[in-house]
This record gives sequence, C-alpha cells and structure tokens, in this order.
Amino acid sequence: MISVHRGIGMTSQRTRERLIERLKAEGIRDPRVLDRIRNTPRHLFVDEALASRAYEDTALPIGHNQTISQPYIVARMTEALLEAGPLENVLEVGTGSGYQTAVLAPLVRRVYTVERIQALHELARSRFRTIGLRNIRTRHVDGGMGWPEYAPFDGIIVTAAPEGIPRALVNQLRVGGRMVLPIGDNSLQALVRVTKTEDGYDSEVLEQVAFVPMLSGVT
Ligand code: SAH
Repeated sequence: MISVHRGIGMTSQRTRERLIERLKAEGIRDPRVLDRIRNTPRHLFVDEALASRAYEDTALPIGHNQTISQPYIVARMTEALLEAGPLENVLEVGTGSGYQTAVLAPLVRRVYTVERIQALHELARSRFRTIGLRNIRTRHVDGGMGWPEYAPFDGIIVTAAPEGIPRALVNQLRVGGRMVLPIGDNSLQALVRVTKTEDGYDSEVLEQVAFVPMLSGVT
C-alpha cells in the first residue's frame, strides 16, 4: 500500500536526523550512505500502520513472513559494497520492500533486483515509480541463480541468508567485483564480503546478523 503521507512527526527532519546520529554512533562513516538513508522515505516502504516506526533503527514486518531490513544493516551492507570503489551494475537478491534497493540505486549506475514473492515484487516496483527511481530493473524470480542476462556484475547484495556462498552468484561477479551477503542457518548468520579473484574468491566476515532465510522457488 502506498500513500502519500500526511502526518508530520514521522517524516520530520528531526526524526530522520536522530536515526542518522544513531547510525554514526554505530560506526557508519560513508557520507554518501548516510545521505541516502537521510533522504530515502522509509515510511513509504512499510505498511501505513507501521509508518510511525519507520525511522527507528529496527527491522519491521512487511507481510509474507518477511521483514524490511534494519537501517543500520542496510547502511552497513551498502557501505561494505561501495568501500573499494564505484560500482556500475549491481544485482540484489531479495527485493523485499525495496528499501535497500532505493538506498543503493542513486549510488550506482543500475540495480537489477529480484524477488521470489510476487506481491512484494509488485509493491516494490510501484514504490520505485512513485519516488521516481528509474535505474532499477526488477524481476519476479528465484534469485538463487542470479540474473545471467545482465552478468557479470560489479557488485551483488543478498538480503536473505543462504547456508553457504552460492556458486552461481560468485560466477556472475566480474573479477574484482564483490558480493555482500549473510551466510548461515536460521537464527544467526555471518555477514560476509566476497571478492572475486582471477582464480576463485576471497572472503571476510564483517559481523553477525540475523536475516530471513534464502528460499527456493517462486510464490
Ligand atoms: N532488502 C529487503 C529485505 C527483505 S527480506 C528490504 O529492505 O526490504 C529478504 C527478501 O528476500 C524477502 O522478500 C524474500 O522473499 C526474498 N528472498 C528469499 N529467498 C529468495 C530467492 N531465492 N530469490 C529472490 N528473493 C528471495
């Protein structure tokens, strides 16, 4: 549901600024990322009933047993993706609400985002249109196999947790490209950054996170 929001409190600059201060205190440094969080209307990415909580640093339910990621995690993953230099084309697996996509899109040339739940895919697509983001291509598909037509990607961001590093996604990274993803079982995962090399890949653990699991098939 999209509604152009009438209340003042939750969209106020002060409410958003409080979130930015918190993210800084938690260690987010990249000014481009902080700026994107400041200027992305997160209240439009949650149900109207939850809009008053949209600028809290917390994950919130978006239906279908899924959640919109916590702003800190969105900031951290975006920062980790961009850290080593600019990116042209980025694949996102797990569009969900579209919030992570919307934060990232203005910082790269194009985002290709895939979602396995049709209702979420359609809602996210209409949000991108509403807020005027034009460099996002969306698809309703199981993202475990990536999006081969547009590979190789400079960056891949995965917002649902597979149990191991998906080989198909590593194969769609260009050499030097990087992928940020949670790895592990249901309760607790490691946020990992994978960098593709000539003969394989390097990986580093960034921190512990809790994401919904990556599932296969579409619905
Ligand atoms: N970044 C999103 C997070 C959404 S939660 C946001 O900020 O809103 C993760 C999403 O990944 C869910 O919508 C879930 O349906 C989706 N997902 C899980 N497994 C998937 C797969 N194999 N392919 C595509 N999407 C998947």
